[in-house]
Amino acid sequence: MKVAVIGGGAAGFFAAIAVKENHPKAKVTIFEKSNKVLAKVKVSGGGRCNVTNGVTSIKDLSLAYPRGGSQLKKAFSIFNTTHTMSWFESRGVPLMIQEDNCVFPVSQDSQSIMDCFEEQTTKFGISVELGKGIRSLKQVENFQIELSFIKSDQEPMVFDKVIVTTGGNPTKKGFQWLQELGHKIEDPVPSLFTFNMPNEPITKLMGIVVEKTITNIQGEKFKSNGPLLITHWGMSGPSILKLSAFGARKLSELEYQFVVQVNWVNEQNNDKVLKILESIVAENPKKDLSNFRPYGLPERLWHFLLEKIELPFDKKWSELGKKGLNKLVVVLTNDPYAVKGKTTFKEEFVTCGGVSLNDVNMNTMQSKVIKNLYFAGEVLDIDAITGGYNFQAAWTTAFVAGKLL
Ligand SMILES: Cc1cc2nc3c(=O)[nH]c(=O)nc-3n(C[C@H](O)[C@H](O)[C@H](O)COP(=O)(O)OP(=O)(O)OC[C@H]3O[C@@H](n4cnc5c(N)ncnc54)[C@H](O)[C@@H]3O)c2cc1C
Repeated sequence: MKVAVIGGGAAGFFAAIAVKENHPKAKVTIFEKSNKVLAKVKVSGGGRCNVTNGVTSIKDLSLAYPRGGSQLKKAFSIFNTTHTMSWFESRGVPLMIQEDNCVFPVSQDSQSIMDCFEEQTTKFGISVELGKGIRSLKQVENFQIELSFIKSDQEPMVFDKVIVTTGGNPTKKGFQWLQELGHKIEDPVPSLFTFNMPNEPITKLMGIVVEKTITNIQGEKFKSNGPLLITHWGMSGPSILKLSAFGARKLSELEYQFVVQVNWVNEQNNDKVLKILESIVAENPKKDLSNFRPYGLPERLWHFLLEKIELPFDKKWSELGKKGLNKLVVVLTNDPYAVKGKTTFKEEFVTCGGVSLNDVNMNTMQSKVIKNLYFAGEVLDIDAITGGYNFQAAWTTAFVAGKLL
């Protein structure tokens, strides 16, 4: 069996190795259009490569994928985070789980992952052909697939099975050759970005982190939680990044002009918040508002919120009255900020979009349009929040494609 893997990135290498491990007689070639492989792995996770996440339940794992989570459940039952960890560790790359559940090589160096792939490709005799971009493919006799190269001096080649692992692309044009074969392409739009708030004075509090927040987009169903960081341009941190990922398509439609509502106290039941404030009144009636911060909010933020709802710093808690307490409940649980634009997060831009999962058998990763054609990695309309989940999707889909082809 002759197998071609198109794209020498994370998914390409993992797929090629999975083919050889499951079909030892297969002759496998990786075609890479540039002159270096695994470029993204090298720079990933700030050069440390966040290979996966410590989450072990498939249900929780699938929740990290704004697109593709539910469709990946079956594939995750075949290859999930636990498998990823033992895959690398049993091939000589010890891993460590950080407190935040992100998993990195103990070496703290993405080169360990690259070296492992290189060792495996050599061991299995997988050919890696650099500078060989694929321009198009077509089905020929016996359901074989012919590949044509971008460079016109390279003769077309025929394979029994082909796995496409060409990664994401910021424009639909990048997927045109796959669209022309009959696959629907979901529009690429950015995911994982921070929010710009040019007209919001809260930016003067830059550097403040509130550990537990809930955020949502006004008028939409998207909701997120986690730490929130106030920056000099607006808001960032896991709560915001997650919200940007889940709202990616809608926020693109809104041209990144919307209102984000922040719940600073991680409590959605307003009655409970009111009770906490009432207990402060009962226990600290003579304290100035500015001197007693509910929920341990950072001082500068608390003062900012008091100013925002026009409550004087020197007012006593006992003088708040029902109206004052209600004002506080609202600003603590439902505080709106106008967003105008977005900023890419640490160069780690991810685009959602790609080959529609409706055109792929998600149990095998085989195209429903072209027999013997498989997909793995970011070329699919799958993307995740940060935390090693994007690589996990690449490993999972590549493993399934390589094993089941
Ligand atoms: C800066 C940065 C840091 C990141 N850090 C992390 C992290 O720590 N953890 C995490 O989970 N995710 C991370 N990600 C996301 C992760 O890198 C991607 O999800 C992952 O690389 C996708 O793998 P892939 O193999 O599908 O695509 P890619 O890694 O993009 O590989 C695709 C390959 O195909 C080649 N190719 C494209 N078209 C053709 C063609 N026509 N013919 C031949 N070859 C072709 C490309 O040159 C490329 O080498 C990061 C992303 C970025 C940009």
